[in-house]
Amino acid sequence: METQIRKIVQWGQSFLHLLYPRACAACGTTLKQQEEIICLHCELELPQTNSHEQAQNAFYQKFAGKISLENVAALYMFGKSSGVQQLIHHLKYSNCPEIGVFVGRLYGRKLRQSHFAQADMILPVPLHPHKQQQRGYNQSEMFGLGLSEELGIPLNTTMLLRRYESETQTRKSRIDRWTNTKSIFALDNPDCLQDKHVIIVDDVITTGSTIEGCAAPILAQTNAKISVLGIAALVQ
Ligand SMILES: [Zn+2]
Repeated sequence: METQIRKIVQWGQSFLHLLYPRACAACGTTLKQQEEIICLHCELELPQTNSHEQAQNAFYQKFAGKISLENVAALYMFGKSSGVQQLIHHLKYSNCPEIGVFVGRLYGRKLRQSHFAQADMILPVPLHPHKQQQRGYNQSEMFGLGLSEELGIPLNTTMLLRRYESETQTRKSRIDRWTNTKSIFALDNPDCLQDKHVIIVDDVITTGSTIEGCAAPILAQTNAKISVLGIAALVQ
């Protein structure tokens, strides 16, 4: 009986895919029935950094001399007009939160033997509540959710808060922007982070200023150790 039901469900799914072909979030080709979110070709070919295997990697160096971090890694190299950029774009703007969860699970499986697996808590970079309401979800939280599932590390979405929207920064000078970034984020209930190791997770790590902003209240108010994970990162 169960086999029959499964067959009917599979038949229904194939029929749906025929009517509404699903596209790979990175390259746009039609997904085969057994493929999910990205095609097998992209799963193998998107440029992975393997930075979790190297402690003093290029992404860790971005923060050297600025803030004290434990480990920094990202799954993919970020490049303009690339499959990785498409993937992030769809995650943020195509109402596809499942892309974030998928990538988080994918990365979580790779990180099981790494030092990241020893952390106590995952803190996604928060969106301003207005922006989250507009988008319907926080893309970094979706990535964190997938990581949390695979690594068995709790995800906390209430401790790290965004006080201002960051768009207002664009017209400001670099120095203003720096002071501004430092005060964008706040920490609720800092006592819970004493002696803990937290992972801040973001979609794309570019200059690193968002991560520095998130780390500022944690480093100022607690003795927690901080690591960082991104879906993608830019090497500069
Ligand atoms: Zn693809």
